Amino acid sequence: MSDKTARIISSPELMQEFSTSKFVEGKRIAFVPTMGALHEGHLSLVAEAKKRGDIVVVSIFVNPTQFGENEDFNEYVRDFSGDQKKLKSYEVDVVFAPEVDDIYPLDFETKVELPKLQNCLCGLSRPGHFKGVCTVVTKLFNIVKPSLAIFGEKDYQQLKIVQKLVRDLNMNVKIVSMPIVREKDGLAMSSRNKYLSQSERDKALSISKSLVRVKELYRKGYVEISELVESGIKVLNDSGVSDVDYYEIRDGDTLEPVEEAQQGNLVAVAAKIGSTRLIDNIRL
Ligand code: AMP
Repeated sequence: MSDKTARIISSPELMQEFSTSKFVEGKRIAFVPTMGALHEGHLSLVAEAKKRGDIVVVSIFVNPTQFGENEDFNEYVRDFSGDQKKLKSYEVDVVFAPEVDDIYPLDFETKVELPKLQNCLCGLSRPGHFKGVCTVVTKLFNIVKPSLAIFGEKDYQQLKIVQKLVRDLNMNVKIVSMPIVREKDGLAMSSRNKYLSQSERDKALSISKSLVRVKELYRKGYVEISELVESGIKVLNDSGVSDVDYYEIRDGDTLEPVEEAQQGNLVAVAAKIGSTRLIDNIRL
């Protein structure tokens, strides 16, 4: 692939104009929403967008409304010029990078939420998070007008919520999901991994190891939820990770609790390593 610097658009109105003109030309826009600090996980979504769309739009917007009061909005890694360099070889057409005021003018008040699907897993420990996600995704879809949008399974609950949002509100956007991209040793790639010291990174590795352990046990015939969850938590605890936000096995589509583990179930974990909250998951 040759290098091409993407056009940068920050105004929602200009972005809408661009998208409308492409729509009139009969072009399909493939959209990858991100908060920047791009890594190979994000880039796998961009590569998929490139395959599936005529035009590729990547948004870079650290969305304040999905961060809680005591969360890391201000500290969140921002590296716009690094991101642009990384996107070069993918020949992205547009990077949509609005300012907070562009997305949330002073009189902004509409909120979008899915009370049931957000009432578990990350939604419980991060109140308001998915309301912020759903509101910004709705806005971004109205601004970018994509035919399809690519999301990572890394944020599995987010993926399920966005799929339902699109169904519930008849949004004309196909949601495509992509598998979790991991470091060679198994750590799920995340912009927040940059916060980890070397010793914290060593500990963080136990998260993916614990998921693999749970899946191994399931394959050996263990189906009792409490037993599987305890063995996952034990792998974390044995590595010195004690601040476990949740460790759960749920239905892979509805995210409802299950009585016994079954193929396709989601094993999801959130744990704090030092002050960094990491999430990961695996399907049985
Ligand atoms: P973020 O910038 O963290 O909001 O993530 C933007 C998109 O990239 C979301 O759809 C994430 O699920 C996806 N993503 C983040 N990390 C990974 C990863 N390790 N593998 C695959 N997709 C990812």
